[in-house]
Amino acid sequence: MSDRQIEIAIVGGGIVGLACAYALVVQGRKVTLFDPAPGRGASFGNAGGITPGWVAPLAMPATIRALPGMLFDPLSPIAIRPAYLPHLLPWIARFVLNALPHRVEACSKALAALTLGACETWSAFAKSAGVDRFFRKQGILYVYASERSRRAAEPAHALRRKRGVAADPVEAAWLSSFAPMLSPEFRYGIYSPDAGHVVDPGGLCDGLMQAFDAAGGTVVREAVLDLAADADAVHLRTKSGGFHAGQLVLAAGAHSKAFAAKLGARVPLDVERGYHAVLPDPGIDLPAQMIDGEGKYALTSMTMGLRLAGTVEFAGLDAPPDYSRSAMLVRAAQRLLPGLRTGGATEWMGPRPSLPDGLPVIGPAPASPRAILAFGHAHLGVTLAAKTAAIVADLVAGRSPGIDLLPYSPTRF
Ligand SMILES: Cc1cc2nc3c(=O)[nH]c(=O)nc-3n(C[C@H](O)[C@H](O)[C@H](O)COP(=O)(O)OP(=O)(O)OC[C@H]3O[C@@H](n4cnc5c(N)ncnc54)[C@H](O)[C@@H]3O)c2cc1C
Repeated sequence: MSDRQIEIAIVGGGIVGLACAYALVVQGRKVTLFDPAPGRGASFGNAGGITPGWVAPLAMPATIRALPGMLFDPLSPIAIRPAYLPHLLPWIARFVLNALPHRVEACSKALAALTLGACETWSAFAKSAGVDRFFRKQGILYVYASERSRRAAEPAHALRRKRGVAADPVEAAWLSSFAPMLSPEFRYGIYSPDAGHVVDPGGLCDGLMQAFDAAGGTVVREAVLDLAADADAVHLRTKSGGFHAGQLVLAAGAHSKAFAAKLGARVPLDVERGYHAVLPDPGIDLPAQMIDGEGKYALTSMTMGLRLAGTVEFAGLDAPPDYSRSAMLVRAAQRLLPGLRTGGATEWMGPRPSLPDGLPVIGPAPASPRAILAFGHAHLGVTLAAKTAAIVADLVAGRSPGIDLLPYSPTRF
């Protein structure tokens, strides 16, 4: 088959690539999205939170202090497979440096510049794409059983308040009235009203793909095997042949590192693997998304049941899943919600694409202004997909995105 000329190529159809594809096609551009399995990566099984208050980076002094105790316990909220440690050491070194006070402040500001307004950005985007049925705005509730855990989380909540996000302490009586399904053992809470969640993250991806298709977009269900940029075009190859794109958006999530290098960006992208368990008949409908401050995972009522999702495991992209981490989430939720029905649980693992400063890479590729990089959204891909798509659409059109992109630059490392 002879090579094909295309206008805009999107590599990767997770929530980020799909949102970019839709934002571009509705601006009258001819867009071709490449992905062998759109919407089935990290964007499928996440906790679905739209969280403007995620302005406290993971790299904070409390995390660093807890790291040595957590790392080699395979069932701790953050775990490293010993065989992967040598590979990860440079990433950890950068992560630790980002926990210095001035870096926490800079990263928090850079996160806030993207996250604040996430619910409103999504609301307009979702209405336009006809996927607003997937969104609920009920806030987020952080709950703690011990005074020690509540105190350990306080720097993160203080940072939220500093960035203008409401994070209100609530008493045990408030908790038992707002969320009567909670165990009375969980006596401390922080409630942030400005947050929402998606009730079916995989369904949202499917809905965005339908909207993209209806607006005239093309989906090629094949992996991109290679790419290269020169002055005239960005050249891609799949198993069915070659494509020459006038512009390209790289949004392949955790699989973006090698492609980014070919576009001149050497980024320390690694994978924070996360797990979920879905309880199809939990007997409980939560009044808001919850974060269990003891087990450090999210609980979200979704259309398919109650999803328990979170934790971080460093083991690389290809290591087999360790579903004892999903079982650990179920045990933690039984402590939090004593009436919980756990029969028929399903398990999943997905790769968060993560940079050591917790910020995504968004911006033109060093080797070619024809290629825009949009990956590394770590814990925030759902929260930030609509915002990222707006920025990418501006960059592709040569407009100013109205935000300083320096903190997200691929050359910042
Ligand atoms: C347990 C868990 C809970 C989470 N909870 C939340 C949350 O509550 N809120 C939030 O905002 N975020 C959350 N996240 C993070 C969020 O899921 C990710 O940041 C987001 O899904 C990343 O989206 P993406 O499109 O970049 O990557 P992905 O969804 O992984 O998509 C990348 C796509 O690229 C494709 N691809 C790979 N290689 C190629 C190739 N060679 N050619 C073509 N295509 C290719 C893949 O098939 C895939 O579809 C969570 C993540 C996990 C794991």
